[in-house]
Amino acid sequence: MEDNAIATLRDMLDRSRRVVVFTGAGISTESGIPDFRSPGGLWTKMAPIDFQDFMASKEMRRESWRRKFAMDPTMRAAEPNRGHRAVANLVRRGKVSAVITQNIDGLHQASGIPDRQVIELHGNSTYAHCLDCGQRYEIDDIRAAFEQDEEPPVCAACEGYVKTATISFGQAMPEAAMQRAHIETMAADLFISIGSSLVVYPAAGFPEVAKRNGAQLVILNREPTGLDYLADLVLNREIGDTLGAAVGVN
Ligand code: NAD
Ligand code: ZN
Repeated sequence: MEDNAIATLRDMLDRSRRVVVFTGAGISTESGIPDFRSPGGLWTKMAPIDFQDFMASKEMRRESWRRKFAMDPTMRAAEPNRGHRAVANLVRRGKVSAVITQNIDGLHQASGIPDRQVIELHGNSTYAHCLDCGQRYEIDDIRAAFEQDEEPPVCAACEGYVKTATISFGQAMPEAAMQRAHIETMAADLFISIGSSLVVYPAAGFPEVAKRNGAQLVILNREPTGLDYLADLVLNREIGDTLGAAVGVN
């Protein structure tokens, strides 16, 4: 499917020297992982457990681990889709310097993008760690113990709470990742936001920073976002087919 909007996007990519791609849950729905804010999305079914509640209540920690283990088979079965492949192609060609992602599913890395070029703003759900001393724990080990008694895990070394290495609402952002994302954003002449409703801050601040710094801004998302008014190009379309066609990737 070739049309004006796709030709415009390709043209912007051709003319730019340094692109940053910013992704949200929407790039992974075609891989079978539900997003939060699509109609019928996870958000409408159950509100996320925020960090304060996780810390304050054992029942919340238990519920958080239940959800994690309920979601895990879907996460593990997921494979990169056409959208991830198109982004990986742009990285390989040297067009895209970094992918800043809000996702915790690891699919950008699975698509072949080197770790150093993926900036995870909300962490990663493939392992866990102690919130006090940082000790790493493997999900499989935690699951084996949790299946016995549904006791939320605590650290063997310091008894701190063990949590997946993701960032919950209300939890401090990872400083190093935020800093790298800022540097990459300031160096970009084209910033493409893909599959994000752009309502979760501070992550959603990056497209604004890019635009204010003089970069062109493209927003690719099925539904309108709150930052569409800032964008040079808004594509309210499906991610895989749109990006695949623009980049020439199947
Ligand atoms: P969001 O759910 O708020 O927004 C996703 C957006 O993607 C929606 O506006 C939707 O219209 C659009 N979308 C979905 N599928 C699409 C498709 N195939 N083509 C085009 N557009 C499509 O997601 P967000 O902005 O990333 O914020 C949610 C938070 O939840 C993030 O912080 C993230 O950490 C977390 N989360 C991550 C995952 C994941 O890792 N895959 C999944 C759910 C939630
Ligand atoms: Zn500890």
